[in-house]
Amino acid sequence: MSIESTNPATGETVETYEEDSSADRDEALERAEAVFDEWREVPIEDRQEMLARAGEQLRENESTYAELMTEEMGKPIAQSHAEVEKCAWLCDYYAEHAAEHLQDDRIASESDARTLVSYEPIGTVLAIMPWNFPFWQAFRFAVPNLAAGNVGILKHASNVPGCARAIEEVFREAGCPEGAFTSLLIGSEEIDEVIADDRIEAVTLTGSSGAGRSVAETAGSELKKTVLELGGSDPFVVLDDADLELAVEKGTQARLINSGQSCIAAKRFIVVEDVYDEFLEAFVERMDEQVVGDPTDEDTDVGPQAREDLMETLDEQVQETVEQGAECHVGGEPMDREGAFYPPTVLTDIPEGSPADREELFGPAASVFRVPDEEAAIEKANDTQFGLGASVWTEDYARGERVARRFESGMAFVNELVKSDPRLPFGGVKASGYGRELAEQGIREFVNEKTIWVQ
Ligand code: NDP
Repeated sequence: MSIESTNPATGETVETYEEDSSADRDEALERAEAVFDEWREVPIEDRQEMLARAGEQLRENESTYAELMTEEMGKPIAQSHAEVEKCAWLCDYYAEHAAEHLQDDRIASESDARTLVSYEPIGTVLAIMPWNFPFWQAFRFAVPNLAAGNVGILKHASNVPGCARAIEEVFREAGCPEGAFTSLLIGSEEIDEVIADDRIEAVTLTGSSGAGRSVAETAGSELKKTVLELGGSDPFVVLDDADLELAVEKGTQARLINSGQSCIAAKRFIVVEDVYDEFLEAFVERMDEQVVGDPTDEDTDVGPQAREDLMETLDEQVQETVEQGAECHVGGEPMDREGAFYPPTVLTDIPEGSPADREELFGPAASVFRVPDEEAAIEKANDTQFGLGASVWTEDYARGERVARRFESGMAFVNELVKSDPRLPFGGVKASGYGRELAEQGIREFVNEKTIWVQ
């Protein structure tokens, strides 16, 4: 069996890879288990040094890795470069802070006993990762876990096998012991068997709700911990006292980052009546101005969708919403050119229960809702199965913070688009999943928080 990567801008095959066999899989799990016993004993300072070297490796090969991402999944090249740099920053962050995040917590107890919590690695963690940020998603898992003394097996999305191999190379070149980070090229139909394997201790998945449910079910039946990051339909709330120019600029970026294929992209723009017309007119204009085209061109804002089938799903969602009565102001159908190109699209008058109202639109299509006031805006923002990120735009910071606290989301931003940052925990509530990545919370997800009592 083989796994093929296809350039979504041209439809051409990039490369064909041999799929890993069940014997390869077995060998990888065996090696991971064996190397864990050594890796956990390596002083954390040395593990941190390995991560610092991984950061250097990324910086030295930034262009190669950026071009590979763009070729395999169509990300505009400037954003691919930014992604490699961000991964290097993540390496630097944990190279500097891992030990501090995993320091014992001394707990004062009533007796004269010495009581503390220590944070110990648990073993091999399986990561099932998506194609949308093919380097970042995998590093976000690997870096804190390797720092904590765990070892990792990556099952990357089937359309980015070259990226999966390249990530393995980064850690190998950085001096990570053989087997401590392995990428398996296997299809998702084989994943249940890997999850159930005794040599896997825990699982993390970033992807669709369907994949999340399936992984959680299998892992649950094996009593293995999971962290799930399952996407969202983030609200972008514009209040009557917002800086509209800023809101339009950031809103456009927030919707179109990664050609619209981001779990934390702003998807539902909820605008209060007083500023609705002004916002909509400027927003439609700005969305329409974006440069859509060749992702290898530095000036491109929006590249192709990562796969033809993903673009078709997006188009079906848009068409159905329009059939149910929505108005489409710009875009609204695949572009008449080679490749999986979908233009920036703006929908309004969206009927309740339509796809744009209820589902995640994982591409460059924005849904704009008119609401009477702040209270209605908060209600609309929370009226969704998802709860990943949310943002509110207002010149009154105290009001912004008050609204942010009322969002049912894992992350809430005031006057800034939702973004990930190594220093801040990342994750969602409701159907967006559970658990946290990044920061201190992220490195502590897959450790044994062990209570120690010394009398
Ligand atoms: P999937 O959820 O299908 O893929 C994500 C990862 O999960 C891939 O590695 C995939 O492997 C694997 N996978 C898929 N099904 C299963 C399963 N049943 N058990 C275990 N692993 C599985 O996403 P798609 O690529 O199909 O995208 C569909 C939608 O998912 C998007 O439109 C978007 O809504 C959401 N999504 C959300 C992301 C996020 O950042 N939260 C990222 C990507 C997608 P393989 O590629 O081999 O199928």
